[in-house]
Amino acid sequence: MTQISITITPIAHASLALQWGNTVVVADPVGDTELYSAFTEPNIIFVTHEHADHFSTSTLEALMGSSTTLVVPQSVADKLPANLKTNLVVMKNGDTKEIGGVSITAVPAYNLHQEALQFHPKGRDNGYVLEAQGERVYIAGDTEGTTEMRALKNIDIAFVPMNLPYTMSVNDAADAVLAFKPKHVYPYHYRGPEGLSDTEKFKKLVQAGDSSIEVILQDWYK
Ligand code: ZN
Ligand code: ZN
Repeated sequence: MTQISITITPIAHASLALQWGNTVVVADPVGDTELYSAFTEPNIIFVTHEHADHFSTSTLEALMGSSTTLVVPQSVADKLPANLKTNLVVMKNGDTKEIGGVSITAVPAYNLHQEALQFHPKGRDNGYVLEAQGERVYIAGDTEGTTEMRALKNIDIAFVPMNLPYTMSVNDAADAVLAFKPKHVYPYHYRGPEGLSDTEKFKKLVQAGDSSIEVILQDWYK
């Protein structure tokens, strides 16, 4: 098994924290700021898109420090109050930037099925690939198994959503993961109107397809 030097903290649903040495990254922080007490004033905060389970100006205001960079797509930038725009980086799909030793690529995040296109139209939202200290992390955001996801290379850790009708079924998520073969994959964003998706089934499907991919199931809904 590969050794990973990143510390990963699932916070809830789509919200998570990553730590590489002294570099702290928070993605899609929403909800009670106490959840983030170990991660206030992170180096970078990423927002994937404008939906309320990913984007909260009050949580951002509580977490942002004077040296925190906020990375967002344009549609989120358009909704930010002035006090959250002081250290802002806007990325569009395909952009690459380097911030504080972390190389960042914005990966398109969007729906493929006709009946779901309105949730996440192509071009608006970002997933992110972060690379630091030789390790590559993919935070997918709300997306289906797009060609861009399936073409990703050398991902050490992936966070992949699986809830209908907003993202993917566990079958579609497993199929996409088997195409890009991350070393480790965390199901996240797996609660929908019908309850929690069957992440155990996702794990079985991935491991049946490629036993070298480690599926890490954690409780994102404590
Ligand atoms: Zn969404
Ligand atoms: Zn969502």
